[in-house]
Amino acid sequence: MEKDPLKQDIRYLKGVGEKRAACYARLGITDVYSLLRHYPRNYIDYSNPVSIMEASPGETWVVRARVFKKSREQRIRKGLSVFKIFVTDDTADMTVTIFNSRFAAEALKEGESYLFYGKVTGNLLRREMNSPQVLRAVHGAVMQPVYPLTDGLTNKMVSSNMEQALTFLKDGRNDYLPVDIRESHRLCGIVEALQNIHFPSSAAAQQEAKRRLAFEEFLTLQLGMSQLKLRNRKSTSVLISEPDLSPFFSSLPFELTNAQKRCIEEGLGDFESGVPMNRLLQGDVGSGKTMVAAALAYAAFRAGYQSVLMAPTEILAKQHYKTLSELLEPLGCKTVLLVGSMTAKQKAGAREALACGNAVLAVGTHALLQESTEFQNLGFVVTDEQHRFGVAQRTRLAEKGERPHILVMSATPIPRTLALIIYGDLDVSVLDELPKGRKPVETYHIGESKRERAYGFIAKQLDKGRQAFLICPLIEENKELQLTSVEEYRKKVEKVYLPGYTVGILHGKQKPAEKQKVMEDFAAGRLQVLISTTVVEVGIDVPNASVMLIENAERFGLSQLHQLRGRVGRGAEQSACILVSSHRGEENRRRLEVMCRTSDGFVIAEEDLKLRGPGDFFGERQHGLPKLKIADMVQDTRLLSEARELAEELLAEDPQLTSPEHRGLRVLVRELFRQIPESGLH
Ligand code: ADP
Ligand code: MG
Repeated sequence: MEKDPLKQDIRYLKGVGEKRAACYARLGITDVYSLLRHYPRNYIDYSNPVSIMEASPGETWVVRARVFKKSREQRIRKGLSVFKIFVTDDTADMTVTIFNSRFAAEALKEGESYLFYGKVTGNLLRREMNSPQVLRAVHGAVMQPVYPLTDGLTNKMVSSNMEQALTFLKDGRNDYLPVDIRESHRLCGIVEALQNIHFPSSAAAQQEAKRRLAFEEFLTLQLGMSQLKLRNRKSTSVLISEPDLSPFFSSLPFELTNAQKRCIEEGLGDFESGVPMNRLLQGDVGSGKTMVAAALAYAAFRAGYQSVLMAPTEILAKQHYKTLSELLEPLGCKTVLLVGSMTAKQKAGAREALACGNAVLAVGTHALLQESTEFQNLGFVVTDEQHRFGVAQRTRLAEKGERPHILVMSATPIPRTLALIIYGDLDVSVLDELPKGRKPVETYHIGESKRERAYGFIAKQLDKGRQAFLICPLIEENKELQLTSVEEYRKKVEKVYLPGYTVGILHGKQKPAEKQKVMEDFAAGRLQVLISTTVVEVGIDVPNASVMLIENAERFGLSQLHQLRGRVGRGAEQSACILVSSHRGEENRRRLEVMCRTSDGFVIAEEDLKLRGPGDFFGERQHGLPKLKIADMVQDTRLLSEARELAEELLAEDPQLTSPEHRGLRVLVRELFRQIPESGLH
């Protein structure tokens, strides 16, 4: 078989030697194919130049103008020479300055017109442009690609390599998308798409190219994620069928919500299916996820299996331990805690109980992951607050059993479109109903001027016996400085804002024991006010806390604010949340307005997605999701659902994509998932 020309090493291209190849390698480009997939991040649109008059200083413009005079080379100092080119378009004149490039200056001929692209400076009377990109005006209407670069590569180099690379694409032979798919979805061929994504003949052609490539990318992503899902569907011997849950239900102090009942049913369905559960339980703060996990752990216990629940922090683990042991131990379900701060002896005791099967439920932190933690018969694994754990950790925990059922609980409501992608390898259950009698937290946005009134309001709550959170954000870069400012803030609160009340402080730099003490004091009511950085975010439960004030609210994402706010409003009292932000931006005002208007986490998540893009939801890239190059999950939702439908159809027919016409799709999946070695799809 003849060698695929696209697999040629990048050094095969003109002008690419060892050095440039090394630069390309840093961008992940090693062969002609990967170069062609290096899409422009932007275009300079030379098709709509403005007149010099219109090109207001301070912005970047394309100007069409004629050279009428050129200065001689001026040597400013050693190693710096300057060429001044005077251009006009009959509305006004402009001075173009070129540094250190006799070649570029000489290329500009007097009397000829060019398109100049660059930032315009100067003033109304005297426009200037330094080191512009220049194009001969006769080229007509074109869009020039602007590539992501790295040290040692210029846009010109990449463009010229790209031109040559495109000549390797002779015909449609290299198209990975089968013809019938292209036809039914009105997508252009790969040759046309790559040509027009790099050097568009018009804006419309660029759009068509982008649509085709984005569709391909979405389709590939969906196919890969679905395959991951299928791969996890090997059978398990952990069978839990028709467990009697009535003792559990009758010991609850409240009636479960319908959503909770439904989610428990969905989990029980997995339990008896013979295939391991791999399920995400999504629910707003306070929706009662823990009870769903508890019911299922109890079901596992009835069938003779052990369960484990892992939380991201000790505070949270201890809280879960308290809730679960109080609820389940009376039902005969011995529960142990396993966290780092326990003594060696305590830990050994807990581990012993798990290994011999005396304990049926383990609650803890990362300490659970240690090799020395063994289970006699682990059947059900729960992780709380998904975004803090990586896939690898989840897997490590599951490996302590033999294909146990896995439930992932997330308190971050994620817009449906994203959830389907981010959690593509999981089934999803949604708790979309809050327990009865919850009053939505009243939320206000105030500026600095109303600060005193806000503290007055808080003091009144404290006098009624309630407690308050004061949230003070820490920014990463400057922790030391910030910390002193949090300490100062505390002093101010104690002396000026809320004198006479007991105040505690909680932040990330404290030792676990210290944090624990503060939390316990607050939970027990010994502290009335808790000043905290965002550590408090992950789920502590103090029902008596009825008011929260958030400083610099503009620094938080909406979903984060929503998480924080969820710490109040857990008791019977009407609660309040005060967002302090003097930031005047229109977008900020709109964001905070959303918080005041709704308490529905899914609505807030949708807004967050619209306002800030999907970045926040993807967090620290722990979702095991490959990065997309061209498709945009927020802008292209239509295309995304089109691709999803197609992926489902394709996989229904050919689950492993083994048929010859799907060979190309298989290649695409492999390419995309190469970024994620642990996926095993490459
Ligand atoms: P989250 O989903 O935020 O983890 P939790 O499981 O911590 O929520 O539950 C929040 C609070 O609501 C807890 O105090 C819990 O006991 C209580 N709760 C859970 N389910 C119900 C219910 N059906 N009715 C009343 N209270 C409930
Ligand atoms: Mg929780």
